[in-house]
Amino acid sequence: MKIVKTVLVAIALAIIAAPLPSEALISHAEAKRIWNKVAEPTALTALPFYIKDEKTPNAWVTNGESVTVTTGLLNILDTEAELYAVFAHEAGHVKLNHLHKSASRSAGLSIAAAVLGQLLGGNIAGTAVNVGANLVNSGWSREQEIEADDYSVELAVKMGEDPVGMYSAISKLAKINNTQPSGFNSHPPDDRRLTHIKNKILELKPHAKFPEN
Ligand SMILES: [Zn+2]
Repeated sequence: MKIVKTVLVAIALAIIAAPLPSEALISHAEAKRIWNKVAEPTALTALPFYIKDEKTPNAWVTNGESVTVTTGLLNILDTEAELYAVFAHEAGHVKLNHLHKSASRSAGLSIAAAVLGQLLGGNIAGTAVNVGANLVNSGWSREQEIEADDYSVELAVKMGEDPVGMYSAISKLAKINNTQPSGFNSHPPDDRRLTHIKNKILELKPHAKFPEN
């Protein structure tokens, strides 16, 4: 009788401990481990790694000082290769010096705005600050995104990871974009981006297999 009771308690505990259906496929611990796989060969282990509890699927680097991934992204991606690819893409922005280039780009535009503000007789400092801040927030140029995608594919191939993860992660994110149209909806650019990624992968791995869309 005591054994039966113990077994029942064990079953009950197993049910309680079972993951909730809403739980991400990629756990926080796994996400950190996958980031480390990117951070070690790229010498970025010093960057603090954060997981932000936010529905919007996203990942970003902040001034080359930290890397963040949202729970929304961990809920959408299904495989280690996909998350590896996204992290490698973020590492690419740091390693390719995009932060520095973006900063000088926005600094240049801030000066232009100050001159314009002066011409228009407006609040010079305010204009410069606003334009600068907007450009930093709007993120990378399309060229920089493509460069970071290439970096990700190259790193995956070099480290023996599956480079198709980049293709598969971007196609998942593109599908979400299409179901939630916004001012930034960009179906043709997403298609172009995917085609570019596919060609880059095939260039390095001619027999790579791609998921059906
Ligand atoms: Zn990017």
